[in-house]
Formats: sequence, structure tokens, C-alpha cells
Amino acid sequence: MAEYDFDLFVIGAGSGGVRAARVAAMSGAKVAVAEEYRVGGTCVIRGCVPKKFMVYASEVTSQLKTAKGYGWTIDNARFDWKGFLHDKDVEIARLSGIYVTNLQKAGAHLLHGRAQILDAHTVEVLPKEGSKDAGRYTARKILVATGGRPRRPDFPGAEFGITSDEAFHLPELPKRALVVGGGYIAVEFASIFNGLGVQTTLLYRGANILRGFDDDVRSHLADELEKRGIKVVLGCSHQSIEKTADGTLVSRLNNDLTFDSDVVLFATGREPYVAGLGLEKAGVELNEHGAIKVDDFSKTNVDSIWAVGDVTDRINLTPVAIREGAAFAQTEFYDNPQNFDHDNVASAVFSQPPVGTVGLTEAQARHAFGKVDIYRAVFRPMKVTFYGGQDRCLIKLVVKQDDQRVVGVHVVGPDSPEIIQMAAIAVKMGVTKAQWDSTCAVHPTLAEELVTMREKYVPTEMGGA
Ligand code: NDP
Repeated sequence: MAEYDFDLFVIGAGSGGVRAARVAAMSGAKVAVAEEYRVGGTCVIRGCVPKKFMVYASEVTSQLKTAKGYGWTIDNARFDWKGFLHDKDVEIARLSGIYVTNLQKAGAHLLHGRAQILDAHTVEVLPKEGSKDAGRYTARKILVATGGRPRRPDFPGAEFGITSDEAFHLPELPKRALVVGGGYIAVEFASIFNGLGVQTTLLYRGANILRGFDDDVRSHLADELEKRGIKVVLGCSHQSIEKTADGTLVSRLNNDLTFDSDVVLFATGREPYVAGLGLEKAGVELNEHGAIKVDDFSKTNVDSIWAVGDVTDRINLTPVAIREGAAFAQTEFYDNPQNFDHDNVASAVFSQPPVGTVGLTEAQARHAFGKVDIYRAVFRPMKVTFYGGQDRCLIKLVVKQDDQRVVGVHVVGPDSPEIIQMAAIAVKMGVTKAQWDSTCAVHPTLAEELVTMREKYVPTEMGGA
């Protein structure tokens, strides 16, 4: 039997890779993890975590408004972008350090440098300044967990735009921002900029933002974003960007209008990070979208190579990558076959207001089951009615008509990410509407509306398929 340097070699120390490495190492396996940048991956270094800090910082504007509505006078409120960025970076460094410590505690070897696959059992770590880890290593099993990278559109002047990677390090807060795209990152960053006092426009090429979400959620959120001061421009895309002498970015759009801003942020999707990994040398197959093709157990077509997380482009969320990584390690190192069930994964969009969603949209449910019952409430939460605020929440349940199972829950409003986590448990367990309704309300809360909706909603015009 062949002798290998390691039982497992993990490429990429992000959420999925670190979890797989730790769980595998705790079984007694000899595990190496190679990382070319900082430990923690997109989520910790340039994604979920710093984004959430920015969300917290930017929400203060609406909290100040609320404070005023409740009798407070808060004079001279100021935001210090540079101070905030510094503190954010200190916290990110602390969290990254915890990831390193946890890997070490589990007994995994961290190798600093970019890794390339040479064959089905060999990985080369390239030289990196300050690291002595360069070299060739053999492993019984290889796990690719390299995540994704922002995708930039290709048109004249696109190089003047930034992506979310750079948005975490802008030297100055812009006065005017144009955010391009209509997905998670676009609406989240548009809300962040807007909350921080930046004049913000969201430019999306389609008919409405958040394609793939429930249609009511999409239109409700677009309205609420506009109410909060974001200009939402739909059905429009770039032809070019020019930079003037004073640094203004002039975007020429496909309707021949021009638009001036200080920053253009492309939130135009992400792609699996497979470039230069050497996958072809081992014969690892990609799918038609350039993601690594894997089976239910995250195994590639090569017997000794697996992949988890965004590089496989299944559901591109941190907790999913973590669960895929853990399931891989359980299967391969504990003789405990596990595959992660990708159904009914809840997610949240940290826009302002935020969105929480689990299960099927109304259109998906109609397509899958034919007949569905819809329960829906749109209302001003009591917190804002007190001072005459106009923010509205949306709560929507999608129920399969024949067996009355709740197959979709969609919430737009304060705390919806927290609310949806709980709703997801019930949906995952296959709750029926009657069981759902048997739950007594918690009063006075926004979420109580979820269990008090008794009348079916009949839209004036039946949308969706
Ligand atoms: P998404 O795929 O969600 O959205 C990309 C957006 O960019 C879409 O609106 C798309 O339009 C638009 N787009 C794509 N190409 C172009 C182009 N050439 N010109 C103009 N517009 C374009 O990607 P994101 O970057 O927002 O996020 C990536 C992934 O990261 C998400 O899918 C999600 O899985 C994850 N994520 C999760 C978060 C969370 O859980 N809160 C937060 C941030 C990211 P169209 O709809 O027409 O295709």
C-alpha cells in the first residue's frame, strides 16, 4: 500500500475547508491545509463577517431616526469611516487567528502558500514570502475548498469599477455610489452605502431585483429600498465607464443616459475559484458553469479527490459549505456516511430591511404542486407606527394545498434573518398549516403575525407559474 505524507490535504482554509480539516484531524488522521492568503476564507476575511459589521454600522442611521421618534435628541452624530475600517480589520484579524488556533488544536498542519494539484495524490505548495512551506506533498485524499471569486462584467472602462473585495477597504467613503447587480451582494451593499449617507443608485439589468426569490419579496424589497432613499433603476445595463480628470466615473448606460458616481461597485455574481488549481492534471471534471462536478458525497470523478463549498456551486452559503465539509469528513474519516441535504436551506439577505426566506417561492410551489394556498400580510410594525414611520413588513406563507404542508416562508422586515432560522426548523420537519397555527403567538412581536394569518390571500391577478 502506498505511503503518503498526509491522509488528507485540504486546499483552501475557508469555511468548508477548515471544518473538514478539523473534523478529519480530530479522528487522528494526518491533515494538511494549504492557504494562499489569510485563514478564514471569504466569509471571515471579505464576506459575511465584515459585511455584517458594515450592516451594523449603517443601520445606526435608521436607529437615530427611531431614537428621534421616541423622544431622544442625539446631537452631532458623526460616522468615522477610517476608524470603523481599522476596528473592523482588528476584529477580522482576531477571528482569523481563532481559525488558525482551532486548526492547530485539532492537530492539522497549516501550510502557507498557493497549492496546485499535480496528480490524483500529489499537491505542490508554491513558494510564498515569509513561508517555508513550499514543496511537494502526497496525500491519500485531497479536498478542494477554494471557494469563489467576484465576476466582473466585460465592457470598456469596466476596470474602473470595484467588487465587494475592494469595497471593504475603500480609502474614503464615496459621496455617490452606483451598485450594479440585483443579487444578495448588490442589495446588501446598496443598503450599506445608503445607510452610511452615500447617495446610492442600484442598477439592475432585469425586471426586478433578487431573481429567484419570491416575487412578492422582490417587489416589496424594491419599494422599501426606494423608501429609504436608494434609487432602484431596472432594465438597464452598462455600455462603458469613463473616468474624468476629477475622478468622477461616468457610466454610459444602454438607454443612452449617463450617470456620474465616485464608485461603481460590480455585484454581478461570483464564480468558482478553479483557475490554476491543476485540476486538469488529475482529470477532475468541471460542470458547464465551470464548477467542480461532485456527487451527493462531494466526491469528484477522481477517486481520491473531493470538493466542497462555493467551488462546487451548489448552494453558495457559508453554513452549507461547513455542513458539506463536515459530512465529507464524517464519511471518509469516521466510517459514518453522511450527505448534506440541500433542501429547505434558509437564507437571509442583509439588506435594509432584511429578508429571511426558506423553502419554495409561490411560483416554484405552483409549478411543483399545482394548487397552493397563500397567506400574506403587509403591515407597518408597531415600532414605526409610533412615530409615523412608513416602513412596511411582508410576511408570506406558501402552503401545499393537498396535504397542507408549509413549503415556503418569506419575511421582509426587521429581524427577519433571526425569525427565519426558527421557521426553517418547522419547514424542515414538514410542518402543516394546522400545526403551525396551533403555536400560540408571542405578543407584541412582528413574528406573531406568522402564526395568526387565517385568511387565504387571493391576488387580484394570479402571478407566477
Ligand atoms: P448573485 O448571483 O446573487 O447576483 C448576481 C447579480 O448580478 C444578478 O442580479 C445578475 O443578474 C447580475 N449580473 C450578472 N452578470 C451581470 C452583468 N454582466 N451585468 C450586469 N448584471 C449582471 O451574486 P452575488 O454576487 O450577489 O452573490 C454571490 C453569491 O454569494 C450569492 O448567490 C449567495 O449565494 C452568496 N451570498 C450570500 C449572502 C448571504 O447569505 N446574505 C451575502 C452575499 C453573497 P441576473 O439576475 O439577471 O442574472
